[in-house]
Amino acid sequence: MVPPVHGYCKCGDLRFELKDEPLFVHTCHCLDCKRKTGSSFGLTCIVLQGDIVITQGTLRKTKIASGKVAHQCSSCFTTIHRTSRAFPAIAWLQTGCLDDLRCLKIGAHTWVKRKDDWLQLPEDVPQFKEGYDRNGTWPASSLSRLAKNFKGAT
Ligand SMILES: [Zn+2]
Ligand SMILES: [Zn+2]
Repeated sequence: MVPPVHGYCKCGDLRFELKDEPLFVHTCHCLDCKRKTGSSFGLTCIVLQGDIVITQGTLRKTKIASGKVAHQCSSCFTTIHRTSRAFPAIAWLQTGCLDDLRCLKIGAHTWVKRKDDWLQLPEDVPQFKEGYDRNGTWPASSLSRLAKNFKGAT
């Protein structure tokens, strides 16, 4: 991916740009993600909060669970990203809002023990029966970007 990548909500009032590459992108085939997305798997795009820049429109914040917030277009309520108090530097970006999904590089497939039978996963992407350990899976560059941002926040 060549940043910045642009994106927008369903109504087009809210536009944003992702200034730098995601820290990591993985699919999750767990039952929660199926239910949450109403689809076969969730696509989890983990970025630094500071890398999401709103260039048009306004965000509204909606509490979705204890300590978790959805950041939505204030006109059409499309969720652009989610944050969690437990992970202060990180945001989970809704990949479907990006202009060009070809920029996403999937780093891992997780919870493949719940994967739909019809779905064939590529052999060259790591697969995990359940979750994974970030330290052994994320690229070193992403781990150090995250570490730097945690230090910057304190
Ligand atoms: Zn909108
Ligand atoms: Zn999941």
